[in-house]
Amino acid sequence: MQKSNEKVRVRFAPSPTGGLHLGGVRTVLYNYLFAKKNGGKFILRIEDTDQTRFVDGAEQYIYDCLKWCGLEPDESPLHGGDYGPYRQSERKASYREYAEQLVKNGNAYYAFDTTQDLEEMRANFKTDLNPSPQYDAHVRMKMKNSLTLSPEEVDNLLKTNTPHVIRIKMPSNEMISFTDMIHQEVSFDSNTVDDKVLLKADGMPTYHLAVVVDDYLMKITHAFRGEEWLSSAPVHILLWKYLFGLDQMPQWAHLPLILGPNGKLSKRDGAKFGFPVYAMNWTDPRSNEFTEGFKEKGFLPSAFVNLLALLGWNDGTEKELFSLDELIHQFSIERVHKSGAKFDYEKAKWFNQEWIKQSVADELLSDVKQILEAKDVIITDVDFLKSIIELVKDRCVLMTDFYEQSVYFFKAPQTLDIEAVKPKWNKAKSDFFSEFCTQLEASNDWDTITIETIFKNLATEKNIKPGELQLPMRIMLVGGKFGPAVFEIANKIGKAATINRINTTLVELNH
Ligand code: GLU
Repeated sequence: MQKSNEKVRVRFAPSPTGGLHLGGVRTVLYNYLFAKKNGGKFILRIEDTDQTRFVDGAEQYIYDCLKWCGLEPDESPLHGGDYGPYRQSERKASYREYAEQLVKNGNAYYAFDTTQDLEEMRANFKTDLNPSPQYDAHVRMKMKNSLTLSPEEVDNLLKTNTPHVIRIKMPSNEMISFTDMIHQEVSFDSNTVDDKVLLKADGMPTYHLAVVVDDYLMKITHAFRGEEWLSSAPVHILLWKYLFGLDQMPQWAHLPLILGPNGKLSKRDGAKFGFPVYAMNWTDPRSNEFTEGFKEKGFLPSAFVNLLALLGWNDGTEKELFSLDELIHQFSIERVHKSGAKFDYEKAKWFNQEWIKQSVADELLSDVKQILEAKDVIITDVDFLKSIIELVKDRCVLMTDFYEQSVYFFKAPQTLDIEAVKPKWNKAKSDFFSEFCTQLEASNDWDTITIETIFKNLATEKNIKPGELQLPMRIMLVGGKFGPAVFEIANKIGKAATINRINTTLVELNH
């Protein structure tokens, strides 16, 4: 239980080995919400002790994603804080003493086995029932370690800097239990857990030792992480017990998996089913493999955060749309579901559509401007663009839709859906549009009502139903069968462009 005077401190502890999966961002979000709700601190700790898995750019990518989502940490390698360094590779010196202390107390041991020794062990102890034997209570007394060698031999090997690791000595026949904030009582049989390496031959701790030591030194009160880490919990609990005492241990919450169309949502599902699984675009510098991100796909951070919050949590009502402030207010870890949360891309898009609708033009302006400019649309009048955003935003599901939905306000359509008009095209309609252009040209006013009035009066005079003329007019101005009210479009694009587009299409239709 949390002590009453203790400040809530939570951490997100990623290993910077690649892009950030939506499950990772959800872990960030739940950490963040819990910290903010309880007036606590959210810490970002970079777990980079496995040098072989170092990936260039992965740490920067994490900062960029957190920034885009608006979930910035209070303490991190970039922001500093009282418990630094926040990058484990820079804390190397602090771990060995804890590993040594475990050896001294009989909870861990030095192991000098070479790679070859380990391979032989796996080959020798392999059976049908146990195809990949682990370094555990069954084999440890047959290996080369400080449990089997004499103290003098061990001293000698250490003095001569013989490569070695330190392994935890898992107790036999012990039930290791703890109360998870989501899963309640969880128990493990110690016999099923191997003697995990705690300190590697290069002097770096493994994740298991580092996570416990750092959660202790950084005074972490609650530790939220994905359910895939639940099987590591018995090792961590024993380390807490041996090193710091269980009363110091943070409260654990193992978050439910995010499920894709077939089981756990994977990067491959994204490529296969055509939806993003990472927060932002990521290209692996080693393989050049590209994985699409929600940001570049056209999601708003407000929508992304909202949909992630709902993957495994709700406030007990039917409400689905939450701003970050509302989430901070409403969130409770007790309401996080136990079972996996199914990711549904159609639903994800619905959240985005709703958030685009709810946003005012000013909030969307800089993104839309960027989207248009990236495709060579020249924006000279920002107020005009804002009015276009207001006009079309209800038609956009993804931010990228703003291109198609607004480009024709800035340039004449590149292609015209002539086939939509041609079957019902005739001379009377052609004459109507020629005359319409003449009348528009002669009009002194240019506003939606004037344009519509000229159009309807002329249609009546020519005895053609206005409904039959509106589709051709839309194709002329927009290029396709979409967009807001056609007279509004004419008003926005102006007299010259309207007349021009009608005439160009007439040439094509009468061809
Ligand atoms: N470094 C682990 C990871 O990459 C962190 C797990 C934990 O939060 O304990 O996800």
